Amino acid sequence: MNDVMMQPQTIDAGLRRLFAMLRTCRPHGSVTEHQFIERFLLPHGMEADGFGNLWLQIGTAPVLWSSHVDTCHRRDGAQKFQIDRDGIVRLADGSPSNCLGADCTAGVWLMTEMIEAGIPGRYVVHRGEERGGLGSRYVAEHEPNRLEGISAAIAFDRRGTNSIITHQRGERCCSGDFAASLARAIDLDHQPDPTGTFTDTANYTFHIGECTNLSVGYDHEHTPQETLDLDYLIRLRRAVLGIDTGGLVIARTAGETDSDFEFAHAGEHGDFWSANAGSLYDLVRDYPAAVAEFLEMGGVSSRELQEFIADTIPF
Ligand SMILES: [Zn+2]
Repeated sequence: MNDVMMQPQTIDAGLRRLFAMLRTCRPHGSVTEHQFIERFLLPHGMEADGFGNLWLQIGTAPVLWSSHVDTCHRRDGAQKFQIDRDGIVRLADGSPSNCLGADCTAGVWLMTEMIEAGIPGRYVVHRGEERGGLGSRYVAEHEPNRLEGISAAIAFDRRGTNSIITHQRGERCCSGDFAASLARAIDLDHQPDPTGTFTDTANYTFHIGECTNLSVGYDHEHTPQETLDLDYLIRLRRAVLGIDTGGLVIARTAGETDSDFEFAHAGEHGDFWSANAGSLYDLVRDYPAAVAEFLEMGGVSSRELQEFIADTIPF
């Protein structure tokens, strides 16, 4: 724990709430997840849709703020964590937890801070993101009217401290102009990053023009080594509590598909993908580790995959 963090008087009510949130393990549909919703989200006036995603509207800004309540924990209940002198949070030594769950506790917490400060926009805390984006898929398919009037969807669900995701699953989700304008609005040196895999906003690219995912300071998510950079998260809180969304540039139209031209201008990774856009078979063969990670983030278990593979083998 660093000196600033050590001073009890500098740990404000917001940080105390973050620590309380980080103590809970919340697999989708668990008792602890429901308790978390009752304790931390419903008191803010959030209301559930038909799937259980939690919504709140403040003002009229055409921005959707997004996160997810479930964590990648295998078991529900409580856990302990520790904070080192650099402000890095990780599981306590000997913790039986399989992850810290800062993915997406950091994002949910940021949104509760924004709600308390009255930052305008539409807020949604999704259910079942770690099970393959269940909650957002439900919204896109069954309650798309909830996305009406929104021109930008910003998820607080990306690892690291400097990414504004421009592509998810190899498809463009927001324009470079939008990413640059969001970086200006936050003013913490974020960069456009085309290497996104999946979060809820990927399910909204046919309904909302600009869909992105922003770094919230966690790393090594879904593993016991998961960390959270508390100093960065506090700086990000200060930035979003003062954000002016009026300057965001809306350049992409909902449903717009990518083109090689865009990829070629997406920087190093864009060049990589335009030169290597092979078939699914080629990608699985050439990048098995990345494909395994992608499947895992999409909620596919090794058992499910085993069963599928067994079904395809003609014995
Ligand atoms: Zn996440």
